[in-house]
Amino acid sequence: MTIFTKIINGEIPCNKVLENDDFLAFHDINPKAPIHILIIPKIEVENFQQVTPETMAGLTAFTQEVATLLGLDKNGYRLITNNGSDGGQEVMHLHFHLLGGAKLNWSHLSDSDSKKFI
Ligand code: AMP
Repeated sequence: MTIFTKIINGEIPCNKVLENDDFLAFHDINPKAPIHILIIPKIEVENFQQVTPETMAGLTAFTQEVATLLGLDKNGYRLITNNGSDGGQEVMHLHFHLLGGAKLNWSHLSDSDSKKFI
């Protein structure tokens, strides 16, 4: 069981943004942007590689709802999912990072040397 399952079950508290029967959105404990929300399905899915199109359809609509609720639909935001160990995934329960609230830096990726990643 991951820490996110404990959050879903209410065993660990979270700073909740939005919830329905299938999905939960809450503030990341270590924010990387002025607004940094984690969006997760309540069913246990390890990561993006494992998720079904049906779950993704619901997750997409829920993510759009969260972005609108927080006003991020107006100026934009970044959506990231880390997949597996090479992708930097630490919690093995599918989650999307919704980042916004400022013009986000992209320079470390836009002009980087691919060799620096290995
Ligand atoms: P990842 O590296 O993509 O697996 O991201 C995991 C994220 O979970 C990190 O950004 C952490 O800061 C965040 N995190 C870990 N534990 C908690 C928690 N109890 N409440 C909120 N966010 C958490």
